[in-house]
Amino acid sequence: MGYISQIVHGVESAGDRDVIVDGPHRITGEQLLRRCSVLSRTLADQGLQTGDTVAYLHGNTIDAVVARLAVQALGACYVGLRPFFSTAEKLKFLVEGRPALFLFDPDQCDEAISLSAQAGISRAFSIGVADFGENLLEIAAQKPDVPMECVHRDDALSMVTFSSGSTGEPKGIAHTFASSAGFLDNARHMYGPGPWRFLVAIPLSDLGGEIVQWTLAVGGTVVLLDDFRADEVARTLGSEHITHFFGSPSMVHALVHEQGLRNADLSDLRLVAYGGAPSSPSRTADAVSALGPVLMHNYGMQEAGFISYLSQSDHIRAGRYLLNSVGRPLPDVEIAVRDPEGVELPPGSIGEVCVRSTTLMAGYWQRPDLTAEVLREGWFLTGDLGRVDDEGYLYLVDRVKDIIIVDAYNVYPQQVEQVLTAHPGVAQAVVVGLPDSDTGESVYAAVVPSTEVPADRTVAFSAELAAAVRETLGTVHEPTRIDLLASMPLTPRGKPDKTAIRGQAVDRAGSPHI
Ligand code: AMP
Repeated sequence: MGYISQIVHGVESAGDRDVIVDGPHRITGEQLLRRCSVLSRTLADQGLQTGDTVAYLHGNTIDAVVARLAVQALGACYVGLRPFFSTAEKLKFLVEGRPALFLFDPDQCDEAISLSAQAGISRAFSIGVADFGENLLEIAAQKPDVPMECVHRDDALSMVTFSSGSTGEPKGIAHTFASSAGFLDNARHMYGPGPWRFLVAIPLSDLGGEIVQWTLAVGGTVVLLDDFRADEVARTLGSEHITHFFGSPSMVHALVHEQGLRNADLSDLRLVAYGGAPSSPSRTADAVSALGPVLMHNYGMQEAGFISYLSQSDHIRAGRYLLNSVGRPLPDVEIAVRDPEGVELPPGSIGEVCVRSTTLMAGYWQRPDLTAEVLREGWFLTGDLGRVDDEGYLYLVDRVKDIIIVDAYNVYPQQVEQVLTAHPGVAQAVVVGLPDSDTGESVYAAVVPSTEVPADRTVAFSAELAAAVRETLGTVHEPTRIDLLASMPLTPRGKPDKTAIRGQAVDRAGSPHI
């Protein structure tokens, strides 16, 4: 069965049960399918065909779920313009991508007007009443009900998603309906049998949109929030009997420290998946204590889909060391660790993690040059450095590009971060390289203390941290500078923003530090 047919099948099985809850708004399986089939027909009447792309500016709403499914049911490709992208980035994707249709939610009308004018888009469609464009829902309302039909074309593009931009300009990442189906297989494998009640508090134009579709495919219910707020998430976990939740490590950390969590009824919670960025073992252990045996670590990337996971039982089975691991590969994923010449290394050696699986991207959108750099002979070169132990657990060491070279010695920032976060006084640490006229690069650490450090203790505290690194990893790894921050700069996707951290470090260069 094709990817979209699997979703439709799951929604059918829900019947008159709610499948999406968005605050006071709810929609049953039957209602969703009816709205989706009429909208899909309406889009076809507007000329949308299999293989076309549709750019869509939207938030976390029921309408956005319906419209995306309606587009994809025709075998067309959904391109979600992320709310946190700059206007220039959205414009770039509209101009270069030349979508067949441009859709927008009414509350994003002002931006839609400006983007349409700048990108020279002649026809824009609003999903609801707006002062601009044609109201697609109004056109659809005039159509008779039609049965839901799905085009099945595994090789057609299903979606273009975007890299987070934490290491440069965001790139469009194109997936086919076949790789989307692979994502769903992996989600079923990791997240267990449905129906789930999944709380989605990340953008639907990001991983949130896929999570919604997987939940629908297993006959489950999605509870939508506009964005992540720890107090609201804690409250909703209990009030909506949530079974599944996904967040970045920093979101899970914020949730664990949320007062409201203490009063929340978590008796239905089966899984809290986290990933997308490194997570310190001490924070993960805290999360297991607060939430119970429900934690799952996911490692993956938008180009390759899910790669490995550390299961709920792994989180409690072994000691804290295993919490450094991103788990074992999914059944359909092959991992090879290679040296810079592309030669496969034996278990235990550190090299670049390369992946072959059913969920690899078709390529970077309209960038065959960039695709050729990372997709070679069916393998995707992740840019992550790692090693696999005798039991098949993968340990990430760092991103290839993040290695700091101090006087010709390689320093892996993540190793330094692990030593720093093992200190009881450290809540979070991010290590980056700064240019250094003597050694080429030097090791810089941004640290968020777990409790405020009095002003007269900061120098001694930083020296203690530097000594811990020196004693564990040697002098080359020792930070030459440590700044204590109130909070870590994060990207909109909740990952440490290394570019901002480096920038702030350079700006603060004159202030006192060790
Ligand atoms: P993105 O595709 O934007 O989600 O970024 C993917 C990158 O995030 C990967 O190449 C890793 O460097 C990092 N990443 C993703 N998941 C994890 C994880 N579980 N632990 C550590 N790093 C991760």
